[in-house]
Amino acid sequence: MRTRIKYFRESIRLVWKSAPSWTLANIIISVLRSFLPLVLIWLLKELIDIITKVASSGQGTVPADVLWLIIAVVIFWFLDEAASGLDTYIRKKQSMKLEDYMYGLLHSKSVKLDLINFERSEYYDALSRASREAPWRPNSILNNIVSMTRGLLSLLLMAGVLAFLNWWLAALLLAVNIPGIWLRLHYTGILYSFRLRQTPEARKTAYFNWLLTGERPSREIRLFGLGDYFISLFRKSFLKTQEEELDILKKRTLIELISDVVKAAAVLLTLVIIAEKTVSGGITLGQMAMFVLAFRQGMIYIKDFLGSLAGLYEDSLFVGDVFEFLSLEENVKAFPPEAELEDFRHNIVADKLCFTYPGNKTRTINNVSFEIKKGEIIALVGPNGAGKSTLARLLCRLYDPESGSVICDGINIKNLDPKKYRKLLSVVFQDFMLYNMAAGENIRMGDIDEKMPDDKIIAAAKVTGIDALIRELPEGYNTAIGTLFEDSRELSWGEWQKIALARAIFREAPLLILDEPSSALDAETEYDIFNRFRDIVKGRTSILISHRFTNISLADRIIVIDKGEVVESGTHEELMKRKGLYYTMYSKQSSRFDR
Ligand code: ATP
Repeated sequence: MRTRIKYFRESIRLVWKSAPSWTLANIIISVLRSFLPLVLIWLLKELIDIITKVASSGQGTVPADVLWLIIAVVIFWFLDEAASGLDTYIRKKQSMKLEDYMYGLLHSKSVKLDLINFERSEYYDALSRASREAPWRPNSILNNIVSMTRGLLSLLLMAGVLAFLNWWLAALLLAVNIPGIWLRLHYTGILYSFRLRQTPEARKTAYFNWLLTGERPSREIRLFGLGDYFISLFRKSFLKTQEEELDILKKRTLIELISDVVKAAAVLLTLVIIAEKTVSGGITLGQMAMFVLAFRQGMIYIKDFLGSLAGLYEDSLFVGDVFEFLSLEENVKAFPPEAELEDFRHNIVADKLCFTYPGNKTRTINNVSFEIKKGEIIALVGPNGAGKSTLARLLCRLYDPESGSVICDGINIKNLDPKKYRKLLSVVFQDFMLYNMAAGENIRMGDIDEKMPDDKIIAAAKVTGIDALIRELPEGYNTAIGTLFEDSRELSWGEWQKIALARAIFREAPLLILDEPSSALDAETEYDIFNRFRDIVKGRTSILISHRFTNISLADRIIVIDKGEVVESGTHEELMKRKGLYYTMYSKQSSRFDR
């Protein structure tokens, strides 16, 4: 309960912070709207009573009082209508502001969070629930609190009116709704637990939907004829969640029906009593109309009140997911004693590094040590799954090792602000990004903070041999590339790789890591790039991960990794003489060409 109250408070704070004036307007208009119907009912009662009196006196003309009352009724009816319209607008405006604010919080959290979170399915569950709920739940809390207060206020006012007629009728109005309250709350809890349980299944459904509608899977889906297969998997997953939810809703509807019968009995009793009192002259026709309307309005407000109460309970359950996600801790941060490193001057050392992916039983990196001096070109080689890319990620501090350390110029990188440390690095990842944006922008992403002159972008594109192609595009460097947006032009995979390489080179970082940077390049481009490799990297310290031994042999030193451990290291010549793993791999690859 304490946590829920904390979440409520936190939600209200967020709502207020996102749009204080609109929140205030929302509260004012809501309170105003709880009084207007009551005034309207009272005016109607007065009107009916005067008209009855005038009609029974046989006067024949309409007195000025009646006209004034009619005008007042119309004015208040208009105010009620206008307030309702204004209320809708204010709520929309406020929720848009909040949505914007919450997306800001959500996105800045997800780009800051440790990469290791992406290895855990619970993270995706939390992210998917948070992104579903965050934009609107806090506002729903505020609106439900406001509606509940308004509903309660109006309800008490209406009950007060009814109490004039008969106090126990007012009590009845409240009592017959108690089973409804309990039911709502009970089923809200059940629905929440259900939705929590089905998050992994819902993500599976979304994944199958992406396989069927996404651009990337579209080719294989067609070629291998996988459409029907995935349609059936989607339907199975989709219907599973839907049917279970429908089942819960069906039970709730059935039980609600019983509670509605109780309410109908109360309505019957009230109407009989009002009719009986009117006929016996106990109340005037105007009073009769007022009581009937008050009773009807009272029932509506009770419904509003209950709806808001159940909504609030539901909000308290779901908003927890949002705060849980927003409070996920970032562990890749600067640990004390914090240090500063403006430039890379001497060396980077891996010291007894060990690392295991969450859920894996064996270490991916096991006691790895090596030193890379400033200006060296180092190649990391080894069989598939040896741990080369993982090592590169550890050097970039995308993960922290479970033991051991990465020391840059004598400073443990754990003592550096990761954001500042990463400024010293530029990387082409094996699974580099394709940004569906302008070609020039794609290269500029390497250093988005700096407003670099265009000729630097062009120079980087020239180095990787993509400049000529970009110039031929309809808008040159301003042409959008990819397939997602209008007037964009798709590139081949190798051309994308050249763009990614240009992006890494454009970033003027002293350390360059290239993970399979030429896997899709044609022989000529690859030959050209690696022939000029030293010119291209311009004295930057470079780590090259590759399976192509012709490229590897240009490195100053080669580190051979196998099953997460350094098994050999030295120059190409030294390793060839050693006749170890490197020699075997090299010989196997070159023998195919020799034949
Ligand atoms: P390749 O030459 O095929 O690119 P690699 O040497 O770069 O391989 P890594 O990608 O570092 O190898 O992977 C090393 C091991 O870690 C592999 O056994 C792989 O299955 C495992 N692994 C890689 N990424 C993850 C991950 N995100 N979660 C869990 N295990 C992973």
